[in-house]
Amino acid sequence: MEWRGRRQSDNVEDVRGQGGGFGMPGGGGRFRIPIGGGAGGGGLSGIIILVVLFFALRACGIDPIQVLTGGGGSFAPGQMTEETNGNQPAASDEMKQFVSTVLAETEDTWSGIFKAEGETYTDPKLVLFSGQVRSACGFASAASGPFYCPNDQKVYLDTAFFDQLSRQFGASGDFAQAYVIAHEIGHHVQNLTGVLPKFNEMRQSMSEAEANQMSVRVELQADCFAGVWGHYTAQKGILEKGDPEEALNAAQQIGDDTLQKRMQGYVVPESFNHGTSQQRQTWFARGFNSGKLSDCDTFNNPV
Ligand SMILES: [Zn+2]
Repeated sequence: MEWRGRRQSDNVEDVRGQGGGFGMPGGGGRFRIPIGGGAGGGGLSGIIILVVLFFALRACGIDPIQVLTGGGGSFAPGQMTEETNGNQPAASDEMKQFVSTVLAETEDTWSGIFKAEGETYTDPKLVLFSGQVRSACGFASAASGPFYCPNDQKVYLDTAFFDQLSRQFGASGDFAQAYVIAHEIGHHVQNLTGVLPKFNEMRQSMSEAEANQMSVRVELQADCFAGVWGHYTAQKGILEKGDPEEALNAAQQIGDDTLQKRMQGYVVPESFNHGTSQQRQTWFARGFNSGKLSDCDTFNNPV
């Protein structure tokens, strides 16, 4: 991805080396696009209506933390680790520039998409942390993987995850990293469109199996939204040869079945909560190829 020299977002909060010592974020008024009353049809309003219909038909909900953590890990309250890397190497500064640039690209793309639908996109913050961090969704360690917290509308990212993605999961390349960021931004879009609030509201009455199935649909939509972003990024002519493949490979490597095979040697399909490798690739590709939100309706289509 030819990202150098492009606009960098001001919405990155760099707390690396602070050991999670920054204060609990304020409430941060939740923003939602008004649901219903839209013109229907495709696009954003169409997605919203379809999602609402889906939730109206199924009384269900899910653990937001499990839904929102990209890496499938869990928060570990109380596990404090001392963080000592006060001096970031140059490579980390480059990483921050890269992350800031990708974030800016998502801001431009999504604000444009929302505007075309007569809505307003609210930029999320992206918190770069190392080791541990406190979010409005709880305490997180790097083991949690990247995640989005709807309570403070922030994406949390430990850039060490990118090393893990490359070395442990065999998903290297800058566009693999961009895909991870874009997926989390996809959750922010879901927060704005009302998907996540609805999801969390209804989770109480769900069985674990139902919750997992619903989680998969939420996650695959975030993958599709990441693809939509990729579509517009490709239109700008800043993708390099092999970039889409890097994202697809990342989607392959972090599919539930592939992860479980690697970690435990066998798969437990009922426990899948992000989707299989094939599903994740399929939905990313769907968004990437069309660039249309209406092609990201994972709630009313087979996944
Ligand atoms: Zn996710």
